[in-house]
Amino acid sequence: MVAGNWKMNTTVAQGLALSQALMERISELPQGVTLVVAPPFTHLFPLGKQMEGSGIEVGAQNCAANQEGAYTGEVSAEMLASVGCTYVIIGHSERRTYYGEDDGVLTKKLTQALRAGVTPIFCIGEQLRERESERHFEVIHAQLKEVILTLNPSDFAKVVIAYEPVWAIGTGKTATAEQAQEIHAFIRKTLAGTFGALAVQTPILYGGSCKPSNAAELFAQADIDGGLIGGASLQAEDFLAIAKAF
Ligand code: PEP
Repeated sequence: MVAGNWKMNTTVAQGLALSQALMERISELPQGVTLVVAPPFTHLFPLGKQMEGSGIEVGAQNCAANQEGAYTGEVSAEMLASVGCTYVIIGHSERRTYYGEDDGVLTKKLTQALRAGVTPIFCIGEQLRERESERHFEVIHAQLKEVILTLNPSDFAKVVIAYEPVWAIGTGKTATAEQAQEIHAFIRKTLAGTFGALAVQTPILYGGSCKPSNAAELFAQADIDGGLIGGASLQAEDFLAIAKAF
């Protein structure tokens, strides 16, 4: 799976042009690659319509922690499902840092997504200071423990995990393939400790300055099952080149 997180970029018209460019070249991708684009909320409906039947999936970048009601400004998981959205990114480091989303809120968001039948892409990753003080395994374990490890097995089986070291997001600094594989293997082992053989099936994506020049090496690692791509997903050429490396 290769998913593009557009963050707060593009107008609707620009987004439609970008997804059109992807659709025109989707046949170049190897069989079996799931391509997901996660534009801003405003784009979901028109993009979903435009890409219907194209084989490209539409994802959102966030969803509400509650089901419905007096939550001004929020968009529920059910609303996402109603416009054909099949994925939602939950727990991106920018949401954790700028909007104070903690394990409690993220657990609620995950529950809402699963309830609505929208596949969550749950992001985890350590800050630079945590890696420098060699606390990265501890941090990753804690992020999984409080949210993912509390799920029942049938819900867990529907989740996608994205490992995104915060120091690599939008910085141009990628984790080396060895650094990424080490954490991915640790994530899988941690998941297997609770969910046993189900963990073998869990897609674990890598995210953090992934680009055409480093994607193949990252994707070749045993426990890296795809990528969550930020900046490079805004250029059709680069995003497709990354997906082709899968
Ligand atoms: C992201 O925002 O999820 C991300 C991985 O960004 P970038 O690829 O730009 O580092």
